[in-house]
Amino acid sequence: MSQERKTIYLCLAHMSSEGIEQKYVQEAFDTNWVVPMGPNVNAFEQNLADFANHNADGTSLDRKVVCLSAGTAAVHLALIACGVQAGDEVCVQSFTFCASSHPITYLGAKPVFIDSERDTWNMDPELLEKAIIDRKAKTGKYPKAIIPVALYGMPYQVDKIMAIADKYGIPVIEDAAEGMGSRFSGQVLGTFGKFGVLSFNGNKMITTSGGGALICRNAEDANTIMWYATQARDAYPYYEHTSIGYNYRMSNVCAGIGRGQMTVLDAHIAHHKHVQELYRTLLKDVKGITLHEQPADERYDSNFWLCAATLDPSVRIQGQENAYKEVIKTAVGGAAGVIKAVDSATTDCQPNENVEALRVFMLSKKVECRPVWKPMHKQPVYADAVSYTNGVSEALFKVGFCLPAGPYVSDDDVRYIVDCIKEAIVG
Ligand SMILES: *Cc1c(COP(=O)(O)O)cnc(C)c1O
Repeated sequence: MSQERKTIYLCLAHMSSEGIEQKYVQEAFDTNWVVPMGPNVNAFEQNLADFANHNADGTSLDRKVVCLSAGTAAVHLALIACGVQAGDEVCVQSFTFCASSHPITYLGAKPVFIDSERDTWNMDPELLEKAIIDRKAKTGKYPKAIIPVALYGMPYQVDKIMAIADKYGIPVIEDAAEGMGSRFSGQVLGTFGKFGVLSFNGNKMITTSGGGALICRNAEDANTIMWYATQARDAYPYYEHTSIGYNYRMSNVCAGIGRGQMTVLDAHIAHHKHVQELYRTLLKDVKGITLHEQPADERYDSNFWLCAATLDPSVRIQGQENAYKEVIKTAVGGAAGVIKAVDSATTDCQPNENVEALRVFMLSKKVECRPVWKPMHKQPVYADAVSYTNGVSEALFKVGFCLPAGPYVSDDDVRYIVDCIKEAIVG
């Protein structure tokens, strides 16, 4: 049986069954709009704004959306629009993917890493306020921006983070790259802050093959972002530049994929939630495995981009005695791109041996099971960065893992995955 199975990946791009994406891509070719602007880009931006502006209670907002070449580019331009410059500090959630914090360093600014609270696994509001006060005392300046992250889709404590940001007058850049369609009090994540980051990478809620967007508060901010995204050109009959710009606009071909994907976004969100519900039911009685659930507070509405869980250190997993014995040859999960070879199988901060053994066991069953993201304040590249920690993300990194979710994961797959987990546990 296991030989015939295809590998079940964490989250894969999934096109609409009617091939609507290809129709819009074809349109781009037919009308010769094979450039980083055009009708598909404009329409996709409108679709995204309509989605973001629609609250669950029927009221609506008036946000603008600018499409960009990547979510990482969106973070970068949001920081610029918040006035972040070399030497400035930016408070960013430590428990995240590197794209939340790397653009801070692109600008010569410094990330100040904030640890997580246990309920949402996201930015701890108390630590955030402590950091803001402490940075002001130590540097004489407040941080220039705050970046909370909806890790695995889970909303952060929006009300508390926004209240602190408002109290100190610091703009918030919401990293909703993994949280597209997650809501807090019925309002879409990314619409609370000055800017909201979306990603359409191949593994996110919807894809444009690669791409991203910024949700902006108003037309003026959207205009600024669009200007920076198109090499910051001033209005002369020749190229005249008063600022450094970027080539970050989305291709009209990619936006065609995005327009088609918007027709399945609601179905994707519903499917991720359905998969989570099935894991919940099937894993309920499996000792030592605890699902990462949203707080018992009806304001939280996660898209459950990935199913995250923790493994109790007391649980023994098949093959555990061999965990970390072999140097990894490729990135975990077989990520695309070039992975720098390493000469050691271990680092001073890594998942417990039973978590690593579970990953290897699941891979042998053709199931991708990945450790949760390693906190940025524990990354060698950020060894010199300032951080405000409480041990939560580091502890979660030792016991946490992610399971496949998304439109490609069927009910049968979830049952198979849970059976594999049960088989992996030896005591
Ligand atoms: C994917 C991701 C991004 C960046 O998106 P790209 O489109 O891949 O550049 C940013 N932040 C987080 C938390 C992400 O997971």
